[in-house]
Amino acid sequence: MVHARVTLARAIGFAVFIGAASTIRAQESTDRAVSALALQPAVKAALAAAKGSEPQTIDTQIRLTEIPAAGFLEAARAEEMKRLFQQAGLRNVRGDKAGNVLGDRPGAALHPHVVIAAHLDTVFPEGTNVQVRREGSVLYAPGIGDDSRGLAVLVAIARALNQADVRTPGSITFVADVGEEGLGDLRGIKTIFDDTLKGTVDRFVTIDGTGMGVAHTFVGSRRYRVTIKGPGGHSFADFGTPNPIGALGRAIAKIQEFHVPSDSQTTFNVGRIGGGTSVNSIPADAWMEVDLRSPDRAALAGLDAQLQKALDGALAAEHAQWHQTRVLTMTNELVGDRPAGATPAAAGVVQAALAATRAVGAVPATTISSSDANYPTMLRIPSVQIGGGGAGANAHAPNESFDTTDSWRGTERALLLTIALAQK
Ligand SMILES: [Zn+2]
Repeated sequence: MVHARVTLARAIGFAVFIGAASTIRAQESTDRAVSALALQPAVKAALAAAKGSEPQTIDTQIRLTEIPAAGFLEAARAEEMKRLFQQAGLRNVRGDKAGNVLGDRPGAALHPHVVIAAHLDTVFPEGTNVQVRREGSVLYAPGIGDDSRGLAVLVAIARALNQADVRTPGSITFVADVGEEGLGDLRGIKTIFDDTLKGTVDRFVTIDGTGMGVAHTFVGSRRYRVTIKGPGGHSFADFGTPNPIGALGRAIAKIQEFHVPSDSQTTFNVGRIGGGTSVNSIPADAWMEVDLRSPDRAALAGLDAQLQKALDGALAAEHAQWHQTRVLTMTNELVGDRPAGATPAAAGVVQAALAATRAVGAVPATTISSSDANYPTMLRIPSVQIGGGGAGANAHAPNESFDTTDSWRGTERALLLTIALAQK
């Protein structure tokens, strides 16, 4: 046991190895350490408890899904998580100013301080039918996987740790956070790192979505709402007045010709447009929403610069067409800002996540993602995203489903990873 702890300390606590050969050696030593950890009596009992109570975890997942939680309307589901955290034996269960729910499981010391999170909000608007339908092993409902699964696994981890009385050197804080999706713009997790737990967190895990994947590279995004305004007028009598929709059209034509790196991970999209009042009026306004993404910070900044240039150029061209200046005005509001970043593959948290996956008998696959982990990654806090197990399909669509077959593996993996990261 002592040997396992020492090895874990080397693998997780300090070492970030450079170079493939040493990365492989570090991974092998982490695999050994995590396997040894899984054999410690208390940990073994916790893993068995997690597996044994998987039906209860699935019931929790269903109950949470049936509490609507559209973006900015997460309060009812947050209340239920508070109750579940208390019932699972977490200490100091509380809310914070953003509406996040937190619960502590103190260790021998505060550090290493591990935060394990899942998000409360869904992409589905208020009024969506969230009743869960079951067909054999498959559950159907909007949000059943993303992220009710993550929330249910959080509760299962807390319950199993207490049932088996697992003692950890470091402390664990469980977080159910608001505002992960869409225009929520990570406001929940930003509050956790900028305010609620500012400066105290050493390692971060988010359980987001389903399956057994591990993500440590996070796609950044910048989203803009561009509005162009002018005096407007009669389409015949005021002909010659610069046209906001004309300027917007010129901008869109330029955007569609952007050059991006050919890795197909840097992307742009004009997702919505609007403006004007009638066919025979020069419009007084026009607007669009634009989404830019990349896992590479420099590529994202480059794309952003191209957008600003395209907008300025389009406005100038519309003015030049009518031999006018400063008739139109443009505002470009940043409505979403997710920082891009990666925790290195050689980092202890990544290696521990892969080791925990193997230790429960699954094959680890790494994926690129965009989630709550973007923010702590930017802050250089070692962070990973893991799936909650099972098999999900059609996330973000009304026909979302979750296959519960062997989903206990996801619960066990998340539990083992949490314990491994709370070692010195
Ligand atoms: Zn999600």
